[in-house]
Amino acid sequence: MANRTYISDADTARRLAGLGNSPAREDLVYFLASRDATVTDALYREADRARRQWVGDEIHLRAIIEFSNHCRRDCRYCGIRRGFPGVTRYRMTVSEVIDAAAAAVAMGYRTVVLQSGEDGWFTGDRICRMVEGIKGLGDIAVTLAVGERPAAEYRAFFDAGADRYLLKHETADPELYAGLNPGMTLEARVDCLRELKAIGFQTGSGIMIGLPGQTLESLADDILLFRELDLDMIGCGPYIPVAGCPTGWSAADREELSFRVLALNRLVTRDTHLPSTTALSTLNENDARALALTRGANVIMPNLTPERFRRFYEIYPSKKRIEVDNLAFRTELEALAARLGRGISLGRGDRPGWPVRSEVDKQYGERPI
Ligand code: SAH
Repeated sequence: MANRTYISDADTARRLAGLGNSPAREDLVYFLASRDATVTDALYREADRARRQWVGDEIHLRAIIEFSNHCRRDCRYCGIRRGFPGVTRYRMTVSEVIDAAAAAVAMGYRTVVLQSGEDGWFTGDRICRMVEGIKGLGDIAVTLAVGERPAAEYRAFFDAGADRYLLKHETADPELYAGLNPGMTLEARVDCLRELKAIGFQTGSGIMIGLPGQTLESLADDILLFRELDLDMIGCGPYIPVAGCPTGWSAADREELSFRVLALNRLVTRDTHLPSTTALSTLNENDARALALTRGANVIMPNLTPERFRRFYEIYPSKKRIEVDNLAFRTELEALAARLGRGISLGRGDRPGWPVRSEVDKQYGERPI
């Protein structure tokens, strides 16, 4: 194969070639662990080639609105967890969220991601009203990231018009998961993901990389779980240590591993949307975005939370540092895309081949749940 001649090492080439069809855990660990630059270079170049083949050159932008930092959970790694001291709590009203979405739409965005802590004030009905209000603005894809909810509420969100749902499984190691997320289980999390898929959402998961106690083997399991769940979006970023939680891996390791997981995700899951995450840009403000976009990523999620609330959604330290003016950031992304010879897409950015909404609705009644 002419386009693989740059891979000098036959063993690496054989392992790379197997990732798309039948990824072996051992091969994933090999790429996660290798200290050899020829191996990682080959991995990144192959991931970039696969990105072009499966999802093309467009960089999709999704506007994210963080509408509440109230949370009933106490996840040990999170800066807006219930018990984290000193957090100024805020909650946008339903109409403020719709107005913020309208401002994003006015800037040309066609996908809006609504994220919050697990905030009981936002009942199923309130979230449905928010979704309906935004769907009323035009052909806008609405993504929800509001945590674990009963299946009936997920269905109501879908019926209200929500298109996508993000719920990261955080780590596929059940013990690590249970230790970091008091009162929660990996099993319940994965059940939610299966439920969301069955309902008809384009479904996204993700993990944090470099958590204290996380192993390369468990990261390989994360990638295999992404494949098994046949996800439509996968967001993986480095863990950014929060005060009071063990620091875990070094920053350099967390950054390097995040790129490797990203590239492996591209090769293993092929046409999934993979963002260059804000957490990665927090570790490496200058270069991470360009590197991620050439190592498998094809999505960026600019933060369109109204400025008066933005600084309070600090799930990890220094997150706010990289958040800049909406228009300036757009200009910066356009310049970056041009530099990489890629284009910006402001379309809905559905997963390639995803049925149009009406087709999903037609099948919906027949779905076995
Ligand atoms: N409550 C919602 C949204 C959670 S915040 C939900 O459960 O889906 C979104 C994501 O931020 C989390 O899923 C987690 O992966 C990430 N996150 C939280 N704390 C972090 C930290 N300290 N470093 C890096 N990422 C973090």
